[in-house]
Order: sequence, then C-alpha cells, then structure tokens
Amino acid sequence: MSASNRSLRVAIVGAGPAGIYAADALIKSDPDVSIDLFERLPAPFGLLRYGVAPDHPRIKAIVASLHKLLDKPQVRLLGNVDIGVDLTLDELRRCFDAVIFATGASTDRALALPGADLEGSYGAADFVSWYDGHPDVSRSWPLTASKVAVLGVGNVALDVARILSKNADELLDTEIPPNVYDGLKANRAVEVHVFGRRGPAHAKFTPLELRELDHSPSIDVVVDPRDMVYDEESLALRKTSKQVDLICNTLEDWSAREPAGRAHKLFLHFFESPVEILGFDGRVVGLRTERTSANGTESRCGERVFADWDVQAVYRAIGYRSQPVAGLPFDDSSGVIPNEAGRVIADPVGEAPNRRYAPGLYVTGWIKRGPVGLIGHTKGDAAETIAALMADAGDLPAAQDPRPDAVLELLADKGVPFTDWPGWYRLDAYERDLGAVEGRERVKVVERDVMVAVGRACEPADAGRVTIES
Ligand code: NAP
Repeated sequence: MSASNRSLRVAIVGAGPAGIYAADALIKSDPDVSIDLFERLPAPFGLLRYGVAPDHPRIKAIVASLHKLLDKPQVRLLGNVDIGVDLTLDELRRCFDAVIFATGASTDRALALPGADLEGSYGAADFVSWYDGHPDVSRSWPLTASKVAVLGVGNVALDVARILSKNADELLDTEIPPNVYDGLKANRAVEVHVFGRRGPAHAKFTPLELRELDHSPSIDVVVDPRDMVYDEESLALRKTSKQVDLICNTLEDWSAREPAGRAHKLFLHFFESPVEILGFDGRVVGLRTERTSANGTESRCGERVFADWDVQAVYRAIGYRSQPVAGLPFDDSSGVIPNEAGRVIADPVGEAPNRRYAPGLYVTGWIKRGPVGLIGHTKGDAAETIAALMADAGDLPAAQDPRPDAVLELLADKGVPFTDWPGWYRLDAYERDLGAVEGRERVKVVERDVMVAVGRACEPADAGRVTIES
C-alpha cells in the first residue's frame, strides 16, 4: 500500500514542547494525519515538567496550551517507551511513513577543567533534574556546602543559583515533591558565587530572569562595581540590543547599592574564567579563576591574574548537550543530528544538492539546532521541519504495516507497560489531589513505578516490565 491511499502515519519521538509543536504543525498541514507521540518518561511535556524551575509558574503554564494540542484526535501518546531500547528504529520505520526526532538535550556539556570530576562538582542538568523530581535521578542531593560556585551566566546558571539561595519554604507553593523540599530545607549554602568568563554585556541570561533574583526576601544580590566595564565592542552591543542594555543597567544599579542584610548572598562575578576546581582528599575545596580582559573575549590581561575562591561545591552550568540516537548519524562537535531544514543528512560528505537525506527521517528542536533558545523558538523549528516533510510526502518510504494497532502489538509482545493520554489525565488528577491536601496546586510524583501505576490504573507492583513467555 502506498501512503497516498491512506492517512499519513508519522511517529514523533519526544513529547516535550518541540515534539508537541511538531504534531500541531503537522495536523495544520494535513488534518488527516495519524501521529503516535513517543515519550521515554511516563508523563509528557519534557523540559516544561523536568527543566523549567518550579518557581517559574508563568513558563510552566505553557502546559495548558500543549494540553489542548494533545487532546486532538490525530495524536496518540505512548509514554514510558524508550526508542532504541523498547522499540528499534527499524521497527518504527515498519509502522510509520516518517519519523521525527524531538529528543532535546538533557545532559550537561562536558567541561574540560582539572578537578571537574571531584566530589562536589556537579552538572547543572543533574541538579535541575533532581529539584524537578525527575524519576531517573537519585532522590537525595548533598547540600552540605556553605559556599558554592556556579559556572556560566546563562538562564540555567541563574535557576541553579536562585534555587540554591532561596529558603525552602519559599518553594512551598510550587509543585516540588517532598524529597526535594526536605533536601532544600537542609541546604547549608549561605553564599553562592556565579562566574561569567566575559563581561556584563556578554551575559547570556535574560533581563526578566536576572531581575527576578532580587525578588526573594532571602537573597542579597551583590555585584562588584569593578566588573562594570565595557570596551568598544561591548558598548556597541549595548547600543544595538535593548536586552543587553537592560541587563547592564540592572547590574550597574545593583553594583551601586549596599547589601540589604538578607540571609543569603548571591554574588554575580564577571571577567573570571574558571581554570581549575581545587580539591583535597577527592573533594572540592575551592575554585581557581583567571581574570580576563575587558574586551569581552577570552584573552587575558597583560599579566596573568588568578583568584582562589573558598567554595565546597561547584555547579557547571555551561550549557546542555543532546544524546545520540541509535541508528542515526550524530555530529559530535556540535552535538546535533546533522540535518538540513530538519531532513536528516545520511551522507554528510556529499554537498547539496547531491547530499543524500535519510528518507522519512526528520529532526526538530534542540536535537536539530543545539540547546539554545526559549521554548517558543521550537515552534519555528517545527514549522520548517514539517514544511520539509510535507514537501517530501509523495516520496516517503511507505510503512509496511501502517495499522495503528501494529505498534500496540509490538509493545504488548515486548511487555512494555506504556502509558497513554487518558493515563496522563489520571496522573494529573492524582498529583492535583496530592497538592489539594496541602493547599497547593499540585505535588509531583517522582517514582516511575507510581507514575506508571497511576497512569495505567494498576498497582505499582504491576507497573514494571512484563516478561513474556515465549
Ligand atoms: P547558555 O545560555 O548557552 O549559557 C551558557 C553559559 O556558560 C554562558 O555564560 C557561557 O559563557 C558559559 N560557558 C560556556 N562554556 C564555558 C566554559 N568553558 N567556562 C566558563 N563558562 C562557560 O546555556 P544555558 O544557561 O544552559 O541555557 C540554555 C537555553 O535555555 C538558553 O537559551 C536559555 O535562555 C534557555 N533557558 C531559559 C530559561 C528561562 O527562560 N527562564 C531557563 C533556563 C534555560 P560564554 O558566553 O562566554 O560562552
């Protein structure tokens, strides 16, 4: 059967914003399409559920609009299914005319710094997963350090620094699970030092997120006036970008004031490039930085000037990285699946227009263009990728078994306890009920077996993999 005689069958891998926006764009282009949306975790919404900080309800509210998209009859959610483990790419290709990967970037970019492997040196992504109640990370987090360094001046660095600096009770109106509240309650950090290797005009965070630091009654933000310097390039940047100017103005205001005497100090340092995480007995005991010049580049001052900071933990917030997908090419240097306008490139050597694309395989979101940009930016990715897919629609390699039941049969044969969209409604109601007991909107469930059990309306003991007798 050719795909032109029936509805197009498309698999989307990853039920975060990128995958859901791709489903939306696809339905708008072809209302007859039939989509299966696969998700490794038992619940959908990806980064919104497991990346956005709990005290950012404004961003988390995007879930409401994604809900409406997942309510559409053309989309079927299949959660708790790990593509590459539970289903192979070949199996997907037998059941679908096209496969779109929207697997995002959930791990930390490596930092080649002496001492990066010491105990007390953490990747920001791991910490974010912990405080967001990700089912696959440890339930506890060691928060014994009184002085902490955060490397990088992007929005993730600010999230990490803010969560480390706030009182746990300030997060009691959020969805944080009990283990995270207990962990943060025991947090001993009183000083958090955030380090940018360039100047204020080159900070990557956004003005709203910066100003928010100052709203906590337990955080004194401290900025050194000596860091508020600009060379010609930085000044030009400030002139051309309202956002950069807003950031610099805010930092300058803060650098000119006295600390208000709040319990926790959050220092924002600039022109300090980390060169070594200092250790003793295998544990972090400090951070060494080198002063960089005021021209906003990595070049040093004429004389090399180092500073040692007394910290017992270092969080590396220098950017995320995508993971390769089994069976697909991966560009190790840029950390993305090589593609052109969303079409996966099978033969990166051939130049366009002779470049060979992997027929029927597409990418969207951070796995397509790298881990930068806000959630809304993945809408543009989706539009471009779906336009490519629709242009190819007549030439797609038709699925051998396009029946919607074919995938369910495969999952049943393998004993995969998948969750679905009605199951999310059950989990959603369950978490809201947990929250209602404490006067909160929701309390997140962390344990994977409980998430699956609630979603499948079964007992946790029956929520694991089922062994099928052959
Ligand atoms: P990011 O914005 O790319 O920031 C990474 C930071 O790490 C930069 O300051 C960078 O400095 C620094 N860095 C990189 N390599 C370094 C090294 N070797 N040594 C020292 N510093 C280094 O990444 P992100 O913070 O992970 O954020 C990813 C995306 O998610 C961004 O688009 C962000 O806006 C978005 N996000 C948004 C929110 C929100 O809206 N609330 C929250 C979280 C994340 P250089 O510039 O000098 O390279």
